[in-house]
Amino acid sequence: MSSAGFILAINTFVAAAFALAFLVVAYFDRARSAAYWFALTYASGMLYLTLEFVIAAFPSGQLAQVLVFASFLGSLVIFNIGLANKYSVEIPWRRITAVIIASLAIGYAIQILPRTSVSRSFLYQMPYFAMQMIGAGIVFAAKKRKMLDSLLGGLLIASALQFLTKPLLAELLGGNGAVAREYHTTVYALASQSLGTIFALSIALVTLMAMVSDLLSEAARESERDALSGLLNRRGFERRAEAVLHDLQRKHQTCSVVLCDLDNFKLINDTCGHAAGDRTIKAFAKIISEADTVKHLSGRMGGDEFAVALPGAGLFTARLFAEGARTALSEQVIAGVPGHIRCTASFGVAEFEHGETVEELMGRADAALYEAKRRGRNQVRAAGPHLLDSSVEEPRSALG
Ligand code: GH3
Ligand code: MG
Repeated sequence: MSSAGFILAINTFVAAAFALAFLVVAYFDRARSAAYWFALTYASGMLYLTLEFVIAAFPSGQLAQVLVFASFLGSLVIFNIGLANKYSVEIPWRRITAVIIASLAIGYAIQILPRTSVSRSFLYQMPYFAMQMIGAGIVFAAKKRKMLDSLLGGLLIASALQFLTKPLLAELLGGNGAVAREYHTTVYALASQSLGTIFALSIALVTLMAMVSDLLSEAARESERDALSGLLNRRGFERRAEAVLHDLQRKHQTCSVVLCDLDNFKLINDTCGHAAGDRTIKAFAKIISEADTVKHLSGRMGGDEFAVALPGAGLFTARLFAEGARTALSEQVIAGVPGHIRCTASFGVAEFEHGETVEELMGRADAALYEAKRRGRNQVRAAGPHLLDSSVEEPRSALG
């Protein structure tokens, strides 16, 4: 077996391994079909490599050429469809079709040019160059890009440019064989296949890493979300609140938290049904998350208890926020809950004090919430400073 043939054989197995790896990713990434397209890319890449490998056995050199060309270009098209899916970018069909049509014209033109001419080699590589540039275009058109994605875009450009250097490489290394079946015995074939392998491997690896990284981030996000309300869950809220507080402390800015608990929620569940209870939770989550205020964090701490962190807000602003949410819930009409049953909530508000932990801050807000419940519910209470014996302030305004 020639050296180029040996590389082709190894590449076929590597392509099979990547096709399999992308199938495994596709199994976990149910929401998108990108991994299936990538698996198909490497499966069709195997077809291309097998064709290259058995090229010597083909009765017609020309037919072999057409098949090799079409299967490789086909793999690049499928890869681009996968990229468009991964990056939520519209598939650039017009550009893809234009390159396919141009490649048909090129296919015809190269038949009349001598196999060893530079312009023929150049024309032969043009569609590959254009198709990979389309791929890079898709990556850079993505709205959100992480470092791995930019690396993939850069690799696609480098790989596209590599196709354009091939005619020069063929010139330097003594040509690509007088006839198609001689190709794999040439030094050029060895160099071209090696170069191609480096790029194909790097692109496949980075694509796989980007897909796995997306899956892991998605899993981490999911583990910090509450499915019913769509808000952060307790773990997500506490983790982010910790980070926000740390950041604000560094900037010498304040922050307040609001703890809320629905009033007599068991009664709503018992009299109106669990589904109506769920709708109440969703409605309240919408009220606190979509409130027209400074950027804030909102989470469902469990059951009918919610928390809001208001970066930059002092006690007064936080009390206003809570009062707004309280009024909005009491006026909210919830399907399945009769008009005579009013859905209300109680609120405990606390402002961050220097040196305090998130746990201590939440503890003071919780004490204020407890006080609001004790005093008859459907009201907002503010926590006093943590050095005071009583952790709940007397109301200072009509809000309290
Ligand atoms: P209080 O005014 O003292 O808060 O009285 P409450 O009845 O609201 O009592 P509590 O907050 O202890 O009750 C929480 C209830 O929330 C208990 C549970 O049945 C209900 N609950 C917890 N999670 C869910 C949920 O996901 N959906 C529904 N529908 N109900 C839930
Ligand atoms: Mg409750």
